[in-house]
Amino acid sequence: MQSNGQIYGLYIHWRLTYLLAMQLFFWKDFLDLIFPRNCPLCKQALFEFEACLCTVCKGLLPRANFHLRPFDNELTCKLQGLMPVNRVIAFLHFSKKGRSQNLLHQLKYKNQPEIGEELGRMYGSILDLNGFSGLWDVVVAVPLHPLKKARRGYNQSECFGRGLSKSLGIPYSELLVRRKFTDTQTNKSRLQRLTNVENVFELQPSVTIQELRILLVDDILTTGATLCAAATALLEGGAKLVDLATIAAGGR
Ligand SMILES: [Zn+2]
Repeated sequence: MQSNGQIYGLYIHWRLTYLLAMQLFFWKDFLDLIFPRNCPLCKQALFEFEACLCTVCKGLLPRANFHLRPFDNELTCKLQGLMPVNRVIAFLHFSKKGRSQNLLHQLKYKNQPEIGEELGRMYGSILDLNGFSGLWDVVVAVPLHPLKKARRGYNQSECFGRGLSKSLGIPYSELLVRRKFTDTQTNKSRLQRLTNVENVFELQPSVTIQELRILLVDDILTTGATLCAAATALLEGGAKLVDLATIAAGGR
C-alpha cells in the first residue's frame, strides 16, 4: 500500500514529465516555425509524419524495377566484362532535369544528407518486401576521398547505405578507403573513366572480409567504372560476393 507521500511524489513526477514533454513539443513547433521543413522537390511544408519528402512527391518518384530481374537487366549488361557481375539494382531511373537528378543534386551539393538516408530507407523497405533480406551481411558505400568528404561534410553514398542498412536490418560498415583524389568523371569517355579509377580503392587496414556477402552502394551508376573498381577491391580482399545498388541509374 502506498502512502500519501509516495502518491504525491508520483503525481509530481508525472506532472514534471508532462510539462517537460509539452515544452519539447512547443520548442519543436517553434523551431518548425523559424526553420520550416519543406519537401526538397515541391517545396511544400512537410507534415509531422513526413521525414524528408512529401507523400505526393514520394509517389511521383521515377522508380525503376531493376530488382525484379537483378541478375539480368540493362545495368548488369553494362557491367559485363568489367567485373564478375552478380546482382545490380538501382532505386530510380535517372533522367536529366527530372526528379531523380533534382534530388541527387540537392543531396550532393545543397547540404541535404537526409535525402540520401530517406531514399535508402524507402528502397530498403521495397527490397525487404521483395525477399532480399538475408542476402547480405553488410552494406558498404563507395568512399569519397577524405578531402572531398571534409569539404562536403558527408558522403552522399554513405547516407543512402545507412538508410538501406536500417530498413534491411543489416550493419553498415566502412570497409574501403579511397587513396587517390580523382577528377570528376562527368566529362570523361568510358575508357578515361576506367583508367581514372584504376587502383583508387583499398581495403581499410586490418579489416577481414573473407566470405562476406556485401551490398556495395553508390549514388549513381552511369558507366559503372567507379563501382566496378570498388567492387574489385572487395572481391580481391576475399569477399564472397558483391552486389551493387545505386540511388539512380541511366544515361545522362
Ligand atoms: Zn513534395
